[in-house]
This record gives sequence, structure tokens and C-alpha cells, in this order.
Amino acid sequence: MYTCPHDLMKLDIDGSATSHAMKAYNQEPEQCWECYACVKICPRNAIEVRHYADVVPLGASVQPVRSSNSITWTIKFRNGTVKRFEFPVRTTPEGSAAPYAGHGDAALDELSDHGTLFTKGTHSCDSSQFIES
Ligand code: SF4
Repeated sequence: MYTCPHDLMKLDIDGSATSHAMKAYNQEPEQCWECYACVKICPRNAIEVRHYADVVPLGASVQPVRSSNSITWTIKFRNGTVKRFEFPVRTTPEGSAAPYAGHGDAALDELSDHGTLFTKGTHSCDSSQFIES
């Protein structure tokens, strides 16, 4: 399963790298974004990542668990306190999407007009830098 943006997780097939055969490990921890993509997708909750100090204090652990419509973050503090926070992750049933919900119909013909894309009431832009196709 490939989920890591840096392809950091590696399976130690014979145990020569970690002394734990058939266990995966982060081959370059200093390159880890701590994005939690691997943690969220692991079906066994086997991956634990140190989180930023502004989210949890030193020594605490964080374990996210996804369901079809929510994610629950369990934080274990070093004094033993456990707190859980659950947030919705979908506004539509799993497998469906409503990309224009609440925003009206898209004006698809405006996509090819650079001037409209970059100046329509948000910010101005020198569209002369774009190459017309
Ligand atoms: S948390 Fe680190 S190892 Fe896991 S997917 Fe993100 S960058 Fe890769």
C-alpha cells in the first residue's frame, strides 16, 4: 500500500534493519512530514507518530482512527489521562460527492479565461504573463 508522500515506510522482510522481520519502519524519520497519512490508513493502528508540541505536550501519543464518516483522535498524556476528539469528515455518504453544494452551478466556460480566473473580485493579476493556448 502506497500512501506516504515521501515513500518513507519500508518493510523489513528479513529483520536485518530492525531485528523485527516482516515489520515496517520509517527509513528516514527526519524526512517525515508527520502528515499522518500512514497512521490513518493502517488497518491495525500499528503506527504511532510523535505529534507537534503545539498539539500535544511532550511524551503524549496521538492515535487517529477513521470511520466512514468521522475521525477520532485519541490522545494519551504521559500522566495517563486519555482524551478523545471526534470530528465529521464527510458531508455526503461515503462514495459520493457534491462539489458544487451551496455554490451554484459552475461557469465552466470561464475556466479558459485567465483574466476572469485571477481578477474576479478576489485579487488582481498581470495576465500578460500567461501563455495563451
Ligand atoms: S506521517 Fe511520515 S511516514 Fe507517514 S505518510 Fe506522512 S510523511 Fe510518510
